[in-house]
Amino acid sequence: MSLKLCQGTRCHTYNTKDRLKGSKDNKTFQTRRRSDFYYGGSNFCSLNCQNDWFNDFGTRAIDHFGRLTEPKHLTEENAWHKDYDWRIDDRQNRYFFVNAITKERRALTEEQYEDRNYTLNTNI
Ligand SMILES: [Zn+2]
Repeated sequence: MSLKLCQGTRCHTYNTKDRLKGSKDNKTFQTRRRSDFYYGGSNFCSLNCQNDWFNDFGTRAIDHFGRLTEPKHLTEENAWHKDYDWRIDDRQNRYFFVNAITKERRALTEEQYEDRNYTLNTNI
């Protein structure tokens, strides 16, 4: 299994025990190496490291991939989200879609609620 390196630009400057590596007279603090990370698309060992990277490169990354120049609009036909009412004992009547703009509710089965791909929205 190959290990990944944290992409944090200052990871090696955080003086934690696990970053201190090397033999007795040749110790250095090193960038963290793990099989997986939990932050930033599994590229960073911590939120700190993710923030360091963003502070150094974020503006350039946004300009590279396309800066938003006008607001996006979430229209009525894409404003559906899933919700449930825990006070309803009957599990098959507990779940529903609610439209964030019109406030309309539509019934939803528990299976549909759990299905991450099931949506009424046409695109986002
Ligand atoms: Zn890190």
